Amino acid sequence: MTIAENLHAIGKRIVNAAERADRDPSTVRLVAVSKRHPPEAIREAYEAGQRHFGENYVQELLAKQEELADLEDLRWHFIGHLQTNKVKQIVDRVHVLETIDSMRLLSEVKKRAGAADSPVNVLLQVKIGEEESKSGCSTEELGELLDVSCRSSFVKIKGLMVIPPFELDADDTRPYFRALGELRNRHGGVSSLPELSMGMSHDFEVAIEEGATFVRVGTAIFGPRRP
Ligand SMILES: *Cc1c(COP(=O)(O)O)cnc(C)c1O
Repeated sequence: MTIAENLHAIGKRIVNAAERADRDPSTVRLVAVSKRHPPEAIREAYEAGQRHFGENYVQELLAKQEELADLEDLRWHFIGHLQTNKVKQIVDRVHVLETIDSMRLLSEVKKRAGAADSPVNVLLQVKIGEEESKSGCSTEELGELLDVSCRSSFVKIKGLMVIPPFELDADDTRPYFRALGELRNRHGGVSSLPELSMGMSHDFEVAIEEGATFVRVGTAIFGPRRP
């Protein structure tokens, strides 16, 4: 299967999952996770109509942006662990920073976006339940991060993001996705936090049934990653 064929097949599965959940399929956007795949793979996906791409590493993202500078309407999502000292390198180069999970990081984003005079969209990454992952704020910290004082005209908090523990059976991930939706409802609902970034190659349909607006899919589009 080519990248274009994979994108087409996933597009159909997105529509079906959205319809099962009585949702408008256009409210779900596919983020093609291109980490450790070469720029040519991104170009191929772009030519098939894909616009949102996800990257995990700052240097890799910057190198690909340079290589693909002719593709003007690419929308980059930063989805990796972000170190505070790297914020300034990407804050004015991405469509959305999906992994903001501490006050320190949020303050740095505010400062650097202001200095660059470049507003940036942000998702707050939340750790849910017994998740082993070190990333993500606790549900208690989320309230602080959402405090109005943390917002500025340069930092637009658009929603929440979660990386649940890997479950062999995709349906076992459902409680985590549902919990993220409930957390959103406790903090102003769709009108204040419209985006939910959740679901990957093996469980994006479950995530869509639970309200995902961004699904982050890598392997199912590009195949296995290089080591
Ligand atoms: C790598 C990655 C993905 C994509 O995972 P696949 O299983 O290849 O679809 C999604 N989200 C995050 C945060 C990732 O790091």
